[in-house]
Amino acid sequence: MAQGINRRVVLAARPVGAPKPSDFALDEAPIPEPGPGELLCRTLYLSLDPYMRGRMSAAKSYAKPVDIGAVMEGGTVSEVVRSHNPAFAPGDIVEGRTGWQAYGLSDGTKLRKVDPALAPITTALGVLGMPGLTAYVGLSYLGQPKIGETVVVAAASGPVGGTVGQLARLAGCRAVGIAGGPEKCAFVRDSLGFDACVDHRAPDFAEALAKSCPDGIDVYFESVAGHVLRAVLPLLNPFSRVPVCGVIAHYNETEPPPGPDHLPALIRATLVKRITWRGFLVFDFADKEGEFLAHVGPLVRDGRIRYREDRVDGLENAPAALIGLLEGRNFGKVIVRVGAEPGR
Ligand code: NDP
Repeated sequence: MAQGINRRVVLAARPVGAPKPSDFALDEAPIPEPGPGELLCRTLYLSLDPYMRGRMSAAKSYAKPVDIGAVMEGGTVSEVVRSHNPAFAPGDIVEGRTGWQAYGLSDGTKLRKVDPALAPITTALGVLGMPGLTAYVGLSYLGQPKIGETVVVAAASGPVGGTVGQLARLAGCRAVGIAGGPEKCAFVRDSLGFDACVDHRAPDFAEALAKSCPDGIDVYFESVAGHVLRAVLPLLNPFSRVPVCGVIAHYNETEPPPGPDHLPALIRATLVKRITWRGFLVFDFADKEGEFLAHVGPLVRDGRIRYREDRVDGLENAPAALIGLLEGRNFGKVIVRVGAEPGR
């Protein structure tokens, strides 16, 4: 193959607080050559996800940060264009972690073939990908919902929260979403079929949440924390479960928020109500991927689980889209179109 140019987005600086456009840089490099056992993937779609804020920071976390000058990390759906790996052939559509660039190399590990017959291939980054698996394992294994219980879901219009609430409904629970603004709340109720959705930006948020949960909360799927958790805490029932999936309200913080210390109320409620909090990372449950796809794949194919995508066109627009995602300006799973799908 004649060597072409690979467009990439690299980390230019570590953000202080909310990321800025100047924390990213667009650059060009030669398209890499696959070595023995490797394959070259042409990126069709890039997934943007809240965890990327953590990778931009040098603070100690569960994963290594992206180095300054290195390509931003990210999940992708790609077309295999050259392969020296017998498990993959040119033309295969694959989901992997080749990052914010037009072409990436893979050694075939952490790469899976995507079945375009099951659902649109972008779902491999959302409802049938990492966010969907997060929703499935967090709710089933940690939330352990029982028929008739109330499940409250933060960030309910996104790929994780939207899937959690729909799975909770299918498990016979009352699903109450929390989302920012009337438009997102209407979508969560009317399109995703939640029993109710409460606007966390409304001045009467805490009262509205209490009204929507007349029997209290048995499972709270935490993705936000901050003022949302403060409204949820008094409503948690004895023996309630809280899968702690994310704390997006705090990702851009540079110092503890001002105001009263809520720790005593939290620990007292935990004791008195015997609440189970459990943090989890989706890769702790990598062995559940097959089970998840067997269960949720047909539900998506048959339209019993629905989803919304927020499409962004062009790799150069990815930084602004990630900045927006961290401020709640996305509406659904953020997918960046990087290259044309074969045949389109
Ligand atoms: P979403 O598409 O739901 O986007 C994040 C949403 O969070 C925003 O749209 C916004 O929605 C909401 N939000 C942002 N800031 C605030 C705030 N200060 N207060 C309240 N809400 C806020 O993202 P995902 O579905 O991809 O991810 C949801 C959560 O799951 C994140 O916390 C993410 O980090 C976590 N996650 C964790 C994983 C794990 O392994 N533990 C794996 C994957 C995701 P709105 O406008 O409705 O407020």
